[in-house]
Amino acid sequence: MGTEDAETVAPGTCPTANGMPMLGLGTWQNDDAEQCAESVRTALETGYRHIDTAQAYDNEAAVGEGIARADVDREDVFLATKVWYSNLAHDDVLETTRDSLDRLGVDSVDLLYVHWPSGEYDAEETLSAFSELSDEGLIENVGVSNFQPEHLEEAVDVCDAPIFANQVELHPLLPQEEIREACENYDIEVVGYSPLARGQVFQQPEIQTVAEKHDASEAQVSLAWAREKGVTAIPKATGEVHISDNWESLTVDLDREDINRIDAIDETSREIDPGFAPWN
Ligand code: NAP
Repeated sequence: MGTEDAETVAPGTCPTANGMPMLGLGTWQNDDAEQCAESVRTALETGYRHIDTAQAYDNEAAVGEGIARADVDREDVFLATKVWYSNLAHDDVLETTRDSLDRLGVDSVDLLYVHWPSGEYDAEETLSAFSELSDEGLIENVGVSNFQPEHLEEAVDVCDAPIFANQVELHPLLPQEEIREACENYDIEVVGYSPLARGQVFQQPEIQTVAEKHDASEAQVSLAWAREKGVTAIPKATGEVHISDNWESLTVDLDREDINRIDAIDETSREIDPGFAPWN
């Protein structure tokens, strides 16, 4: 899906200015191949046009199968995958990305992320390979994930291709103001992962209050909050009930009072915190 396709996307997909649909389907830990393919097919037939996977999820083939099964054209789907941290040496990026495309059964992906600035990551070496893939037309956009402001600065400096998006954990219990501000300064889209805080948001009284007011689910409120912040959210959902519930978040419009109430939550929670994270 190219930027020029933005206007042909179904209105409900709510694309960002750069044409990325602001609600995507996450697939981490959707490990059973048949289940994963069906989740992807269901999401696409519900209206989703953005699917997020990664080499490390070991489900790229199933994601590709779901896209093939769905009654939706490949070119209408914004497909993102990520290069794992042990594959970030220049030639490994080139080789393993081709492997990812083969598993996905596609000629190119819309967004390829550096999964973590860890392991074999070296800004110049890694990102020069991403630029080459972009020049070859194998990836539409270069993305990074789990980058802190200092990593963003370095990446913007060394990468020939523009940095399109930074995917970070982001939800009402981890609003990531500093990273959002840095991304805005560099004109980089923010993609929020674990946007439901892996279920933690459901227990928050403030979110429950707003959900009750709008006759919405807590999941929908968290996703609507992210959208109001200009953040693209990629909740993982396996079955049709959660997939549809999250999709309906696009109809939930929070007002200033709701946003202020959620912004005032003082509890914080970081769900994804491995030892190799750059902040550890
Ligand atoms: P999440 O989306 O915050 O939460 C997923 C959990 O919430 C699942 O247990 C899911 O259950 C449940 N759920 C989903 N919708 C629901 C609803 N409407 N009502 C009740 N429960 C609901 O967590 P996540 O999977 O960690 O993050 C989302 C995606 O972000 C991942 O799948 C992955 O694509 C990406 N991610 C990226 C990174 C990175 O380093 N870049 C790290 C983590 C995640 P069911 O599965 O049963 O529907």
